[in-house]
Amino acid sequence: MTVPTVSFEFFPPKSLEGSFRLWDCVNTLAPLDPSFVSVTYGAGGTTRQLTHEAVTTIHKTSGLNVAAHLTCVDATKAETLQIAQSYADAGVRELVALRGDAPKGASKFTAHPEGFDNSVSLISALADMDAFNIRVGAYPEKHPEAADQAADIAFLKRKIDAGASSAITQFFFEADTFFRFRDACVKAGIDAPIIPGILPVENWAGTQRFAKQCGTHIPQVIQDAFANATRDGTTDLLATAVATELCDDLLQGGVEDLHFYTLNRPELTRDVCHALGVTPKVRLQNVA
Ligand code: FAD
Repeated sequence: MTVPTVSFEFFPPKSLEGSFRLWDCVNTLAPLDPSFVSVTYGAGGTTRQLTHEAVTTIHKTSGLNVAAHLTCVDATKAETLQIAQSYADAGVRELVALRGDAPKGASKFTAHPEGFDNSVSLISALADMDAFNIRVGAYPEKHPEAADQAADIAFLKRKIDAGASSAITQFFFEADTFFRFRDACVKAGIDAPIIPGILPVENWAGTQRFAKQCGTHIPQVIQDAFANATRDGTTDLLATAVATELCDDLLQGGVEDLHFYTLNRPELTRDVCHALGVTPKVRLQNVA
């Protein structure tokens, strides 16, 4: 079986302790030679400065290829493009361009009066800068706001046509969910790579809540297994097994790249990667 290429998502720290945790995460996972690592942009644009600091610090000190997430929320077009320009100036060459969700308390996304009104217009403007490899989000079980999956995939095609080079999916639990989505995308004329997003379950209660919000289906067998593992105190073992099996099924079906949602807890992701044959490599650091 092919050894996959991996990438990792982190979130920006909000405290000194969080900074140490992120740094531990980077140091634990960097030897696995990720094709890129990404740093999220807090819901509602809440971590604008922290995301910027985390991205540029990881970029400078680790030599990893870092992708900054950027959303349209609560910013004018000029402000959003200024953030992008500051990434370009810092030598960051990858962005994950998203519409973003509503800030806490608001029920749905509303564009800033002078801001980008959707992800397609953001992607077009970023592509015009000609400075970035742009990735976007994709939804194997359809985005909760999409009328149906065909409409969602048609919108994904618009994002790719606007200048994105690849898409990273929302997390899911069954490989067939991804394969059906991938086939439908190909049928709709999308030829850009679609990278499955894998969430090793760090916190079962949190995962269930998050899955409900995103419309991610949790098969009964997984629900039962985590209920038992929670009772027995063996959730980490189960999480590693479940994620490894999912990745294995994906690789058997021709997937070559896997993107891990680490939640800044590197151990499960590291163990899954090791089980898939992704082992530490000696890295030559490109420290500025
Ligand atoms: P879009 O794809 O632009 O929109 C979602 C769906 O809504 C579309 O697929 C389409 O079906 C429908 N839709 C939207 N606009 C239109 C329109 N004008 N016409 C027709 N249909 C439309 N959120 C954050 O806040 N920060 C992050 O760092 C972050 N990182 C993420 C990373 C990944 C890999 C993923 C998958 C999601 C991430 N999110 C993040 C969540 C994301 O912001 C939400 O899912 C948001 O609701 C949609 O953003 P999007 O760019 O994927 O949306």
